[in-house]
Amino acid sequence: MASSFPSVSELVSDARRVYAQVFGDEAPQTAVCAPGRVNLIGEHTDYNQGFVLPMALPLVTVVVGSQTSGQDVTVVTVNEDTDEPRRVDFILPTDGSPLAPGLPSWANYVKGVIEHYRAPPVPGFRAVIASSVPLGGGLSSSASLEVAFYTFLQQLKPDDGDKVSKAVACQKAEHTHAGVPCGIMDQFVSVLGREGQALLIDCRSLETTSVPLADPGLLILITNSNVKHSLTGSEYPMRRRRCQQAASILGKDSLREATMQDLEEARDRLDDVTCRRARHVIEEIERTVHAADALKRGAYKEFGKLMVESHNSLRDLYEVSCRELDELVSAALEVEGVFGSRMTGGGFGGCTVTLLQASAIDRTILHIQERYSGTPTFYVTTPSEGARALSLP
Ligand code: ADP
Ligand code: MG
Repeated sequence: MASSFPSVSELVSDARRVYAQVFGDEAPQTAVCAPGRVNLIGEHTDYNQGFVLPMALPLVTVVVGSQTSGQDVTVVTVNEDTDEPRRVDFILPTDGSPLAPGLPSWANYVKGVIEHYRAPPVPGFRAVIASSVPLGGGLSSSASLEVAFYTFLQQLKPDDGDKVSKAVACQKAEHTHAGVPCGIMDQFVSVLGREGQALLIDCRSLETTSVPLADPGLLILITNSNVKHSLTGSEYPMRRRRCQQAASILGKDSLREATMQDLEEARDRLDDVTCRRARHVIEEIERTVHAADALKRGAYKEFGKLMVESHNSLRDLYEVSCRELDELVSAALEVEGVFGSRMTGGGFGGCTVTLLQASAIDRTILHIQERYSGTPTFYVTTPSEGARALSLP
């Protein structure tokens, strides 16, 4: 009943088939993949230098391809859910001039990664992309695409292999070439994710701590609301700016440095909205540390309660939820065996994440289907491995 998604080997087969169609019968030399992610708790904390607790998903972006002798690049995406041409051709500059963003827009993620690759110059190549991460669904298809491409380039021309720098290069690619001022979480977990582990990331020091989440009696259900309200684009930079303003009024480098007491003391210098936004961030950072500790102790009920508090704070204080996400969370929480549920990702649509007993999975999906006014998509997941090279048959 739970919706299934293609396995890594099915994606590789799809990509190889398209590779053969586009480039003749020649087989690709290399295959790699990088996962999408779901954030279990710690929302809108990453760009405030706080903590996040994501895990890598079994949903991945696969890249297969080969180096060529010249400076030509051809990339084809198998994914049909883009209105743009699915093939792009460009030439790598040899005079040191930058590879500028352009159309199709999806190719900018690839160009950005080439531009920030840590062992330039990149050789010419042909590649095909196939992904099971929904595009624009809040599970970070963009970071999985960047990290998969970086991993692909590492196969063609190795860099020094430093994983943190790899994630940072992919984040820069998204900043400079996709124009999205994202935090570090998505690329980090796509690079460093481990099977059976969530990853507590300190977005200030970039230190990571693995948090075991490999209980066979436990599952993570992701429910895609399949809505995306157009607010997303404008609201995200506005939230970021307001957090920066709040931090500077409090005399801090970031809201990570601030306490609820600081906020109280500055109350008359902050307008209501800024105050609510800052309160969410300060409390959510603390909640995330607490939640990671609960998970380490196997205290799933406690963890679930923190998930719900996080959702309520995102809805009421940060105001990035929407009717559909609230409906999905309420429906999940009505089912016995569900520990907690919350919206995940930037908000205004996208997905919810639910921690539940494995034995409750079927009834939870059924109940959400009955209660949700839209058409949801479900992904039943456990924490999975980060980016990796794949062996080709
Ligand atoms: P999310 O990262 O939550 O999925 P984004 O808007 O950040 O949403 O990134 C989605 C964009 O990433 C797509 O619109 C497309 O440009 C690009 N993208 C991601 N995966 C692919 C893919 N497999 N093929 C082509 N483009 C992709
Ligand atoms: Mg993204």
